[in-house]
Amino acid sequence: MGTCLFCDIAAGKIPCTEVHGDDDFLAFRDIDPKAPTHILVIPRGHVSGLSDLQDADQDMAGRLVLTASRIATAEGLDQAGYRFVINCGRDGGQTVDHLHLPILGGRAFGWPPG
Ligand code: AMP
Ligand code: ZN
Repeated sequence: MGTCLFCDIAAGKIPCTEVHGDDDFLAFRDIDPKAPTHILVIPRGHVSGLSDLQDADQDMAGRLVLTASRIATAEGLDQAGYRFVINCGRDGGQTVDHLHLPILGGRAFGWPPG
């Protein structure tokens, strides 16, 4: 496997603004925020994206969503609301090929997305 930006962040080789860290997940602030709150939650283990999830990832994927939900609440977003946006592949707008669950909040979002 080649170098992966988010694996390097998870390993502490590249700095980030950490919001939450545990054995399995790391959450940090997006370097180019698209909303007042923009946090990326990643599994520490490398998974390229949604399309690469396997049966064995079921527990991880569930806990990824639960972890992100708790972070959103801790950030005070649960009352007004927020959005999780996992981009996948070229048309989905994915630019970093390490699964990341972005939490976006702090403003109202439009629908449909651009
Ligand atoms: P996506 O385009 O959905 O794959 O999301 C990748 C996100 O990673 C973008 O919102 C970038 O701004 C963000 N990003 C890229 N490099 C870094 C970094 N070094 N630290 C924090 N966020 C980053
Ligand atoms: Zn990775």
